[in-house]
Amino acid sequence: MPSRDDPVSRYLARLHDELISVDAGDVATYIPELARADPRHFAIAIATTDGRVFAVGDAGIPFTIQSVSKPFAYAHAFACHGRADVLDKVGVEPTGDPFNSIVLDDIANHPYNPMVNAGAIAVAELFPGDTLQQRIGAMQNALSRFAGRELDLDEAVFRSESATGHRNRAIAYLMRNSDMIKLEPEAVLGVYFRQCSMLVNCRDLAIMAATFANDGVNPVTGEAAMPAEFVQDVLSVMHSCGMYDYAGQWAYEVGIPAKSGVSGCVIAVIPGQIGIATYSPRLDSYGNSVRGVMACRRISADFGLHAFCSRTGVESVLRHELYGLHIRSKRVRTLAERAILDRSSGAICIIEAQGRLFFGTAERLVHRIRKVAANATHVIVDFRHVQGADRAALRLLQEFTGVSENPNCRLLFSHILANGPLANLRSALAGSDGVFQAVPVFDGLDAALKHVEEEILRMHKLAAEDKTLTLPEIAIFQNLDAEEMRLLTLSVQPKLTTFESGQIIIRKGELGKTFFAIVRGSASVELPSIGTAGRTVHIASVGKSLAFGHLALVEGQARGAQVVAETELVCYAISIEALRAFGRSHPSIYVKILMNIIGDLADTLRATNETIRALER
Ligand code: GLU
Repeated sequence: MPSRDDPVSRYLARLHDELISVDAGDVATYIPELARADPRHFAIAIATTDGRVFAVGDAGIPFTIQSVSKPFAYAHAFACHGRADVLDKVGVEPTGDPFNSIVLDDIANHPYNPMVNAGAIAVAELFPGDTLQQRIGAMQNALSRFAGRELDLDEAVFRSESATGHRNRAIAYLMRNSDMIKLEPEAVLGVYFRQCSMLVNCRDLAIMAATFANDGVNPVTGEAAMPAEFVQDVLSVMHSCGMYDYAGQWAYEVGIPAKSGVSGCVIAVIPGQIGIATYSPRLDSYGNSVRGVMACRRISADFGLHAFCSRTGVESVLRHELYGLHIRSKRVRTLAERAILDRSSGAICIIEAQGRLFFGTAERLVHRIRKVAANATHVIVDFRHVQGADRAALRLLQEFTGVSENPNCRLLFSHILANGPLANLRSALAGSDGVFQAVPVFDGLDAALKHVEEEILRMHKLAAEDKTLTLPEIAIFQNLDAEEMRLLTLSVQPKLTTFESGQIIIRKGELGKTFFAIVRGSASVELPSIGTAGRTVHIASVGKSLAFGHLALVEGQARGAQVVAETELVCYAISIEALRAFGRSHPSIYVKILMNIIGDLADTLRATNETIRALER
């Protein structure tokens, strides 16, 4: 339950205070029992799609739901009979006539829409069941699922309505006469009158409205009250027909799908966000609650909630653009590899997308990709900050990736995980065999970058061929001549060691006595995650000809990170002590080695600085 000092409650309390003095309008009297309502009652409630309810005023006072039951009965009809049958039975045309008009569309042989009584009576026939009792039970269950609690019938209102509902009876008989309904009128009205007489309060109605906003799932109970695919059908008709013969003006002014009932209640739905409900029994000449209309008008205006008020800002989909010059994969590269990547990586572009992908944002993203691709060798689109893609976005991205527009530019996607918010995009991009034909998809940006770098190095014939290196080919021993190498090997005696994939080679915190030079395979440098206990963060990947654990040579301290074999790994293990001793007897060779290490560190630092610069932009 939200506290009273949250901003929504504060806003509602102020609105309630302002409107409570309005005393225009009259309580409905055409159903005698309704005349007993207390005209002073006034409540406003808002329920969110995550199940929080903000309510002010008499939000717990029970009243009969009346015509606000109509959209829920309509929703249930879709769920039970499917779209075609329901549309066949009742139209979706606004009439501009009062709710209880006897106008029927004799040409199409159905009532104009399900929000006027004729249409609602036809829909009431669609509650499943062989007997009246079963159909009443189905109606009660359906409405209760939307409310998230067992709703009761107001017997007195039902009896009053049944005893005086001659006009509704006339409508039902007319419809029976032209076969618009098949059951006997009394059998249908027996459900309809009870449906209108179900007891709710303002809080219930906000939750019921929020269930429409939440794709048909009651946000408080988590129970599906209707299939999501029909929510749009119901809201469309509420939008054009929900407010009696004031519906056009309402759609223009308030612009929120809504429904009102003669007991003085109104519901309104902002899809994906909230359900709004008001209760105040005094009605205007259209039969809508005077304060309810005023409250909804104010809420819509104050928060810009009108359906046609654009609030998307599609350009925000482009979060950031980076070039490979500034950001590299975490794979540590040799000098020769770095030289090549330095020359080629300016043409690798990384586009970071963000937010939700729908038609507008997906189109903007595709437009940008195409523009960048004109001058790039590779475009990586990173979806890490994208929270979802709707049908339109899937369609556009499929359409886009299905044609290779620029043969000189390769497109890659990253961060589209099978168990993430873009799982639907992942399956849309994968062929039936699960293979990504049009665009390769990587779990993370680093994997995509690594893939591109490897492709570039392969093109320059620098690919890691499958051969084991010799000691002189190790980067930190470069520039040592044959004699220097011989002396080094003789006194240091590097030991060829093999690790299995996944084996921990260095543990964080241990004292470093050995360092390793890779002759085959690769190793991953990892640190414990700051955010999640027990998780590690991958810092770098070290491959052939490169060393790890060699900081111990300079620092002689505890290990700063853990190193794990990424593949089967063959390295030379070199004793720090032995190398230091060698340094004392052969200082000039030792300086060469240290200079190689310093060069290596300086380069890593430079690359890290570049990455920080690119990310801070
Ligand atoms: N039970 C009422 C009737 O059919 C519902 C009217 C309404 O709320 O619009 O007359």
